[in-house]
Amino acid sequence: MYTEKFRDILRSSLEKAEENGTFKRERVITSRQGTSVAVEQSGEVLNFCANNYLGLSGNQRLVAIACEILEERGYGLSSVRFICGTQDIHKELERKISGFLGKEDTILYSSCFDANGGLFEPLLTDADAIISDQLNHASIIDGIRLCKAKRYRYSHADLEDLEAVLIHARGARIKAIVTDGVFSMDGEIAPLPGICDLAEEYGALLIVDDSHATGFIGESGRGSVEYHGVTERVDIVTSTFGKALGGASGGFTTGPAEAIEMLRQRSRPYLFSNTLAPVIAGTTLAVIDMIEKSSEERDRLRDNQRRFRRKMTDAGFRIIKGDHPIVPVLFGHLPDDAALAQRFADELLRKGIYAIGFFYPVVPNGESRIRVQISAAHTTQQVDTCVEVFIDVGKMLGVL
Ligand SMILES: *Cc1c(COP(=O)(O)O)cnc(C)c1O
Repeated sequence: MYTEKFRDILRSSLEKAEENGTFKRERVITSRQGTSVAVEQSGEVLNFCANNYLGLSGNQRLVAIACEILEERGYGLSSVRFICGTQDIHKELERKISGFLGKEDTILYSSCFDANGGLFEPLLTDADAIISDQLNHASIIDGIRLCKAKRYRYSHADLEDLEAVLIHARGARIKAIVTDGVFSMDGEIAPLPGICDLAEEYGALLIVDDSHATGFIGESGRGSVEYHGVTERVDIVTSTFGKALGGASGGFTTGPAEAIEMLRQRSRPYLFSNTLAPVIAGTTLAVIDMIEKSSEERDRLRDNQRRFRRKMTDAGFRIIKGDHPIVPVLFGHLPDDAALAQRFADELLRKGIYAIGFFYPVVPNGESRIRVQISAAHTTQQVDTCVEVFIDVGKMLGVL
């Protein structure tokens, strides 16, 4: 057996990760997901670190709908779609998303990671070029790696650099620009109008991954493309069901009919992986219905987010300005910022606020932060409590 030597090699890599601060530890939640959760060793805390933007993950109405669908459609499908077939609700969900986002057709995946992983290789060849924002999500990076197209990166959200790269890639048959709609470390919405202008000027395809936007950004929740009024200028959108849209799992790609048909024929995570669970397909249909019919959650989320930003700024904290429920509180201007952010997050948790500190090497040196994520399900009181605890800890650690 090779086991001992194998273990030694891995142990030494794991120890290195511990030393350089990249080793990840998971906290264990023993309750339903929600604004208040039970965490092992910490007890009941207010949750400010979930992607539960619309507060639907533990929502009782949604759980009841899911139970009905479970009864009607069963638990699993035990099949990839091109072999045993698909349920009507999967097709219905694809039509629903196409209508919601104003595209011709949609294909479902088990995750947005799979949607991005299986996106590029079927659509592009070595005659083509992919031009990717430097800070794009890992799944986009992996998807690009699997594709034979020439690869270019442009500096994050930098239109001048994007133009220079477009000029450089002029000879390619298809030039595909790809960007996150919202970048999750900063809660920053991509400069889509400028990107659309360049895509049109240089004849490029534009792909947007709207995972941190679908369902709640833009007047009617149609994402960063709606926020920037460029819905019709973006060719392909990918996104997830694992964040605002109920938070279970699943993802999709939506766009021109021929592109989606090609993905059905050739996209490997779609062809060779089990279909989305029926309960998720059916419940996501209900979620999009809710979003189309009512702006209640969206409005509450926006009010909560703006209240938190205003109160934190008034208290003297430095936050990254923006209009997204991801609110990074910065410590980079202070001495020993990495240790400070870590200590700050520990103290917050001790006082019942669950938010995550990010520091080098996860974010660049001098950009340590605590990333707060606001939910529509937070009460005004919970938002205020969070600010009060931030102020307490801020005074205790000499930040304020
Ligand atoms: C979360 C996220 C994904 C992955 O989505 P899953 O459905 O959880 O796999 C992909 N892209 C971006 C930009 C994300 O934020």
